[in-house]
Amino acid sequence: MEKKTCEFKAEIAEMLDLVVNSLYSKKEIFLRELVSNASDAIDRAKFLALTDKSIAADSPEWKIQIAANAAERTLTVSDNGIGMDAEELEKSLGTIASSGTKKFREMLKEKGGDSLPELIGQFGVGFYAAFMVADRVTVETRRRGGDASFKWESDLSGSYSVSDGERDFPGTSVTLHLREDQAEYLDYWRVSELIRKYSDFIAYPVTFRRVDVPADEKEEDRKAREEREAKPLNTMVALWKRPKKDVKDSEYAEFYRHLTHDWEEPFETIPFSGEGAVEFKALLFLPKKATMDLYMPDRKRGLSLYVRNVFIGDDIEMLLPGYLRFVRGVVDSSDLPLNVSREMLQDDAVIRKIKDAVATKVLSVLEEMKKKEPKRYDEFYGAFGSLLKEGVHIDYARADRLKKLLKYPTARGDAGKTVFLEDYVKDMPSSQKDIYYILAEREADARRSPVIESARKHGCDVLLWCDPVDEYLVESLREFDGRKFVDVARGDVAFGTEEEQKAEKEASDKAAGDLKPLLEAVKGTLGDRVSEVRLSTRLTDSPCCLVSQEHALPPSMVRMMRAMKQDVPEEKRILELNASHPLVEKMKGLDGAALADVASLLYDGALIAEGSPVADGAAFAKRLSDLLLK
Ligand code: ADP
Repeated sequence: MEKKTCEFKAEIAEMLDLVVNSLYSKKEIFLRELVSNASDAIDRAKFLALTDKSIAADSPEWKIQIAANAAERTLTVSDNGIGMDAEELEKSLGTIASSGTKKFREMLKEKGGDSLPELIGQFGVGFYAAFMVADRVTVETRRRGGDASFKWESDLSGSYSVSDGERDFPGTSVTLHLREDQAEYLDYWRVSELIRKYSDFIAYPVTFRRVDVPADEKEEDRKAREEREAKPLNTMVALWKRPKKDVKDSEYAEFYRHLTHDWEEPFETIPFSGEGAVEFKALLFLPKKATMDLYMPDRKRGLSLYVRNVFIGDDIEMLLPGYLRFVRGVVDSSDLPLNVSREMLQDDAVIRKIKDAVATKVLSVLEEMKKKEPKRYDEFYGAFGSLLKEGVHIDYARADRLKKLLKYPTARGDAGKTVFLEDYVKDMPSSQKDIYYILAEREADARRSPVIESARKHGCDVLLWCDPVDEYLVESLREFDGRKFVDVARGDVAFGTEEEQKAEKEASDKAAGDLKPLLEAVKGTLGDRVSEVRLSTRLTDSPCCLVSQEHALPPSMVRMMRAMKQDVPEEKRILELNASHPLVEKMKGLDGAALADVASLLYDGALIAEGSPVADGAAFAKRLSDLLLK
């Protein structure tokens, strides 16, 4: 192949610029990233060897070597893993996975250079961390099963070149031409410290070799050097096989980072093993924050499956129900055959049992946290609560357990405070039968809404459902503790004891009789804007509110159907008036244009009160100022 030079895609050029100029103190993480890539490459080669006899016949001794050349100031990380062909080379080292490209640029702009290491990890561009310490990077690679080797090189001038390489055995070597002030990474002790710190659990031996031995090296120094260079720098023990008490938190944290590219520590570390029907060892992590890809449809990585130390895959749906996709980690089982394809694994009975056990374990950890560490649970819930709601919808078998993990803000509670459904039920007055909720886009709108006034007066709290998924959940929630969920802004509701309800009904019927002409007149002047004007059981302080008919489509459904280009007629709302409000009393004396103005103002005011836009803001403002003048 002829040597060709290509420009980096804009976002890479931008990122490299930041990498180079990064003052970030932890430049050392470049080594972790390169060793991690090497380990992944061997994982993949080993997996291929399961089915590809030619690789198996090679029976390579899988290893990662770090070679330092002090004279030339180069550090090379080599593996004998899968390698890359020309196309893969360009795709992997010339672009960022296209799904993340735009997002990456946005984040970069928004967060600035300080967050670079974090972003590098999240976007799977760890390779470029090499440029934190090197001003030129050369990659020589040869794909397993391929017949040519390629060389990739970039010196950060905005472009890279690809040409024929000289590598004669499969795998990849990444050579860093270290900057003058980064020579520390040529030192055995420094590298050894970093490997122990970041990469100890890597399953393949990582060794160090000084290539340019000084001519005047003393015999005893040579011996000592050769002795230490013969030993791997890492202990290679799979973390999930070690008893929890023998593993330091920092080791778990590094393994988590290796696995997830998350910059933070794990929020929760869950080592556990399955015994009985299926034996396996698992090490699960809950992250602190939702990663950006959590809601991306092309997100792929879930738990990594190892069968007798061979990495089989990390397809998302394989070992986790979809709604637990924030859980990361490793499952290792000897009860699975090695020669199975990933596709076959999907329907494997053992896999299904493991999947079941993992989900159950995660829920029991959350239940425990809910009980013993409520503050931490809130932190977790803030990040992943919406996904648990998704679970109620999907995981029928665990819906009851999941419901007990849900939390909501309530009308009575302070902003930012949430309650479990069981606590809500516990605090219900004895006269209250159902669980009340109100839907709104923002919590503040829900709190201010007049439709919850009477509920509050009767001591009934109202759940504020402001998460977009809440609305979809009504159907799947169905009931809790034998109680229905009732929307306080819909259909007929009545609060208080039976006697109170009866008395209120009587009063209301009487008032309805007195006010019948007014209700009719208001309906007459509002016309098609409302389906009905009636007296309210929901209000105490406000003169009026708008409610939906019992069987009206929820607003989210309307939005969705419209997005799908379906014709959904505008739902007409019901305007409810508060019979005991002085304004309503005064309205009895109005008619004609005066009544029409007040009715319109009330209607628009009710829209504003629930956070909805008014149809004609200018007309509203004019009516208001006219009225004020009077
Ligand atoms: P990530 O490893 O998160 O995908 P990187 O920027 O570190 O991101 O690497 C980009 C891609 O380059 C990898 O996904 C892999 O396909 C390829 N790659 C990097 N290093 C190696 C290696 N040592 N052997 C084979 N492929 C590699």
